[in-house]
Amino acid sequence: MEIMVMKCPNCSGDINYDPGQRVTKCPYCDSVLNIKEGSDRAVLERTKNEFKNIEHIRYEYARSVQHWKTLTYLYYGLVFVLTITAFLLLDFFRNHSGGYDLGGIIFMMLCISFLAVPAVFSKTVPIPPKEVEQPLRLRSGLPAAVRMTVTALLVALGGGFIAYLIMEIL
Ligand SMILES: [Zn+2]
Repeated sequence: MEIMVMKCPNCSGDINYDPGQRVTKCPYCDSVLNIKEGSDRAVLERTKNEFKNIEHIRYEYARSVQHWKTLTYLYYGLVFVLTITAFLLLDFFRNHSGGYDLGGIIFMMLCISFLAVPAVFSKTVPIPPKEVEQPLRLRSGLPAAVRMTVTALLVALGGGFIAYLIMEIL
């Protein structure tokens, strides 16, 4: 049986249908579509109200994604500042008091935060509603946690390098 693919006129999602079918439903936005015989086009049957509703749902999702991203940027900023502070403190205690205790503790806290924060953040990724197209959806779970951890480590590396430059200058 031949399977046809078309773009949903409402949400641009791919819909598979067989040419004998007269009516199909978009799996992404639930639009009911009339398929004209012998045609690869489908006619959309929805009220204008429902269109507005979908736009609203997409807008709300985009907003929560933006909020989530802002929080992750704050986290990276914090990692950057904390790394520089920890390195400088470590250096200070090594040179002045002969012990590393405070610096060591801060370092450990930093390591724990590296591991814990992305794991927590990956659980708070906004869940995309089915009205939102695939490329606009934010990845969640393990891929998000791994990506955040790698980014945080690179940011920390940058912070370490800046701290090194400061120590060289002073
Ligand atoms: Zn659709």
